[in-house]
Amino acid sequence: MVTKRKCPNCQSTNHAKILWGLPANMKELEGELERKEIVLGGCCVSWDDPKWKCNDCGTRWN
Ligand SMILES: [Zn+2]
Repeated sequence: MVTKRKCPNCQSTNHAKILWGLPANMKELEGELERKEIVLGGCCVSWDDPKWKCNDCGTRWN
């Protein structure tokens, strides 16, 4: 999936979608993880989970 969102901090378009919860099929996600298109947010979902993480500055935003 190609996104054109920009980091609110550094305006970078190099960012990953944050996946919350445990992925059902890790094999399918390996490629995307490798390319830093997605990152795993962890298994616990809280009330203000950000959806995006900048690969350049590490900022997370929704
Ligand atoms: Zn950034």
